[in-house]
Amino acid sequence: MPRSGKDCDEMNRTHVKKVPVVDQSECTGCRLCLEVCHTGSLEVANGLAALVRPNDCVSDAHCVEACPEGAFRMVWVEMEGDRTRGKWGSGGRVWPGRLRGVRSGMSN
Ligand code: SF4
Repeated sequence: MPRSGKDCDEMNRTHVKKVPVVDQSECTGCRLCLEVCHTGSLEVANGLAALVRPNDCVSDAHCVEACPEGAFRMVWVEMEGDRTRGKWGSGGRVWPGRLRGVRSGMSN
């Protein structure tokens, strides 16, 4: 069955999710962010925190509030995934960097 123009618009749209990224120069590896992340989206490896399960993140920014170094910030990142979890948008200004250690369909 042919797709409608609305379907095509949806397929071509860039989906972005608000997720935490860590400034590696600020992170001390204290693991406080892991303690407050109730979705288990973060891990600390080699002394640095990273969002390793972005699909599980619910964009609640508890890690941002918990970090004593101010190492985390929330940014819009282009990705695919479960759009019922977390804050999603389409298009707009996205973070140009890469997420360290990210899995679940995102490059690192
Ligand atoms: S709370 Fe901050 S400094 Fe501590 S591991 Fe997490 S990001 Fe790094």
